[in-house]
Amino acid sequence: MVLLQQNLKLDLKMAIIITDECINCGACEPECPNNAIYEGGVEWTMAEGNTISGTITINGDQEVAVDAEQAPISDDLYFIVPDKCTECVGFHEEPQCAAVCPVDCCVDDPDRRESEEVLLKRKESLHL
Ligand code: SF4
Ligand code: SF4
Repeated sequence: MVLLQQNLKLDLKMAIIITDECINCGACEPECPNNAIYEGGVEWTMAEGNTISGTITINGDQEVAVDAEQAPISDDLYFIVPDKCTECVGFHEEPQCAAVCPVDCCVDDPDRRESEEVLLKRKESLHL
């Protein structure tokens, strides 16, 4: 049983967040395969950069139109929309934002752990 729990933990990845060390250079934004990265203060939509239509659930239980504009997550710094981030699963071996960030401020979020299966399903739901 202990071994099973350890394996389960190993399968979980952590979502990527941008910390307040961000210098607003913009290098990460074009690298994201899901268009999950936005400049501070910019409204975002689930549909932007993806191929979905209709409605989708975000924040766990909130159903929204995919083209409805949502409030910025940060007003001052670049931010990542968690419901659009797949941690690059299905596209790349490693998070591309973290790979290009010159100040290493795209980091794992220990409060948001998701399995590879969940991330792959998200990728499929964003790119129909
Ligand atoms: S980890 Fe990948 S999918 Fe997530 S924000 Fe960074 S570049 Fe985009
Ligand atoms: S690459 Fe890093 S420093 Fe530049 S905008 Fe993105 S998160 Fe901020």
